[in-house]
Amino acid sequence: MIIVLNKDATEAQIQHIIERTEKLGLKAHISRGMERTIIGFIGAEDALRMIPLEVFPGVENVMPVLAPYKLVSREFKKDDSLIKLDSKATMGGKKLVVMAGPCSVENHDGLLSVAKKIKAAGASVLRAGAFKPRTSPYDFQGLGEEGLKILHSVGKEIGLATITEVMDPRQVELVGRYADIFQIGARNMQNFSLLREIGQTRKPVLLKRGLSATIKDLLMSAEYILSEGNFEVMLCERGIRTFETATRNTLDINAIGVVKKLSHLPIVVDPSHGTGSWGLVPSGARAAVAAGCDGIMVEVHDNPEEALSDGAQSLKPDKFASLMEELKAIAKAIGREI
Ligand code: PEP
Ligand code: MN
Repeated sequence: MIIVLNKDATEAQIQHIIERTEKLGLKAHISRGMERTIIGFIGAEDALRMIPLEVFPGVENVMPVLAPYKLVSREFKKDDSLIKLDSKATMGGKKLVVMAGPCSVENHDGLLSVAKKIKAAGASVLRAGAFKPRTSPYDFQGLGEEGLKILHSVGKEIGLATITEVMDPRQVELVGRYADIFQIGARNMQNFSLLREIGQTRKPVLLKRGLSATIKDLLMSAEYILSEGNFEVMLCERGIRTFETATRNTLDINAIGVVKKLSHLPIVVDPSHGTGSWGLVPSGARAAVAAGCDGIMVEVHDNPEEALSDGAQSLKPDKFASLMEELKAIAKAIGREI
């Protein structure tokens, strides 16, 4: 059961609700968002029927939510959520948001060069990792804070919002100082202390689906972030592990429709990690847009041969620019825009 409070509910009204429900032996879970405060009583439907919460001062709506994910569910919010990324880009509306850039921040000039080209092609968010979750500890691990500084300065110079991965709860403050959007990578989708820490911030976050995570697992992880009060969450399908070995991962196009049905949160598709090979990225991206995603994330590098990570799946800027033209036409055909 979830209680949505009026925008102007007072602290005294909130305390009154809590006192009354505590007398029934229930534990209230309060989320104070920027827009509204929500009180959740998970698994407490029967006990709550004993008091008419609808008539309590400050209460706007009382809702039973059957899905195990509550705040994330369509039952909780029927309209699509709009996530404001910066003064120009909003995710979840008619216009799709394109995020592009190299897998990793490698150096200032390389990032600047790619940033100019992706912006000219129509992207509005610059992606690049400074903390890299590599399978081997001997592989390039990212430039750390130096990388964050480069990303921040290039984003400002070119006029693009920036997104970068945060891997550890202890990095949240540092990464938040430099980036506009947090990325939680596939390997950390169930790093629950990280999810909670990000939930304490009010910055947008892109939560990537885990390598072997079901859509329900992804939604439950998003619930951790929302339950702490941060509603600025975007989900990301980036391919999952299956028995198929011809591609790095299996891009689950079904996830787009399923997420749209079950949740109000926007869904982004990453065909770069979803396929693992640059030649397959355009078809994955086209399919994702046609299926109704809200944004795509694509790895782009000037010289993929020399890339310090994920060169094999990185598009060169000219290929990215022609993909963008195709995507614009597909978006138009289904009543969207890029
Ligand atoms: C990335 O975006 O470079 C990345 C590491 O993604 P994922 O977490 O999906 O593997
Ligand atoms: Mn990558």
